[in-house]
Amino acid sequence: MIVAKFGGSSLSDSDQFLKVRQILRSDPARRYAIPSAPGRRHAADHKITDLLYKCHDLAAYPREYAKVFGEIRDRYINIASALGLDIDIRGKLDEIERRIPLEPTGDYAASRGEYLNGLLLAALMKWDFVDPSDCVWFREDGTFDSERTHLDCSRLLLSREYAVIPGFYGRMPDGSIRTFSRGGSDVTGAIVARATDADLYENWTDVSGFLTADPRVVENPRRIEQITYRELRELSYMGATVLHEDAIFPVRKAGIPINIRNTNEPDHPGTLILPHAQGEPLAGITGIAGRKGFAIIVIEKAMMNAELGFGRRVLQAVEECGISFEHLPTGIDTMCIVLHQEALDKARGRLITRIYELTEPDSIEIHEDMALIATVGRGMVRQRGMASRLFGALSEARVNVRMIDQGSSELNIIVGVSGQDFEKAVRAIYSAFIDAPR
Ligand code: ASP
Repeated sequence: MIVAKFGGSSLSDSDQFLKVRQILRSDPARRYAIPSAPGRRHAADHKITDLLYKCHDLAAYPREYAKVFGEIRDRYINIASALGLDIDIRGKLDEIERRIPLEPTGDYAASRGEYLNGLLLAALMKWDFVDPSDCVWFREDGTFDSERTHLDCSRLLLSREYAVIPGFYGRMPDGSIRTFSRGGSDVTGAIVARATDADLYENWTDVSGFLTADPRVVENPRRIEQITYRELRELSYMGATVLHEDAIFPVRKAGIPINIRNTNEPDHPGTLILPHAQGEPLAGITGIAGRKGFAIIVIEKAMMNAELGFGRRVLQAVEECGISFEHLPTGIDTMCIVLHQEALDKARGRLITRIYELTEPDSIEIHEDMALIATVGRGMVRQRGMASRLFGALSEARVNVRMIDQGSSELNIIVGVSGQDFEKAVRAIYSAFIDAPR
């Protein structure tokens, strides 16, 4: 049994709806579908969710409000009439238009994008419509109530053979609508997959899976065929995003694989995310991801290793400044704090003063505008020569490595380089591992 979530670009107009119908019909194992709201049809277009938030913000300005809502209205009416669907979409739109200005937060407005798309898709497929406001629950403090949701989703969905359940929202104990953070339909899909004990969670989008590197940096990078949840976590932490972060946990817990697929290229196998991948990646590594905008503070003090509580005092200074650090590589007499450049910019004076006061170091050096690059691959630790290949490639490209962190996850080597060297470094690593034959 398969749960299939479709992103906004997969349902942006009536042609896309027909592709989705074809996908759902082509395998009867696809029993539950989770739609997003209509996304962009072209680069200059608006996402319905953005327009809905805008409506909520404009609620006090009737003329502007009516104009933006009109755009939303047209999109849905066009889809419904092109598909010849027999549902009262105008009536639903009228009710939503009337209610948005009465709601205290933007959540109700934002959720209606998925709600309406769910009604359209259910009508197109002739499947049951299940409203997540009857089975996806948030607690009073706004956090997601996973266990209550799990029970109610199981109960409501398993009694139906085929159903559409809109993504992105649920309900609060007081009856009001609440949404997940942006991109949250992925989360609903994962919740439904777990609640129905699916064999597979398909996530249909507009790319054929994850790439081994950022295509803005490396030309035409190879696709990742298989990746483990842990590897994915490492790569997405470093900025490789296709999937909402919180979407991984429910299915990971249940050991359900996720398949990233492309609605516009439905025969392509995409990327499979698994609890444990079969075999090692062909290239020795699974992918490369990185980000600019880090700073590294290097604290040096002779005999630091023998000083009880030194690390705690450093972290106390960081904590007092309200900063959350990213990495903490240490040497014998040095300790590096890797943090976001922005965080440093906000608290620089106080942070450095506090580190001096609390730890009395010999010196503190700050490297700014650094980039971190993670080279990720299960089994990397078990292979000889991986580090030498990585650093050989960087040295050949004349990139100076300022920091190395092999990380305790053992499937990752992170290097810190100057922000200017970022692209060059990523390309060097890519060609050393993925381009080069083993
Ligand atoms: N429509 C929502 C958004 O744009 C949720 C989603 O698409 O997953 O963030």
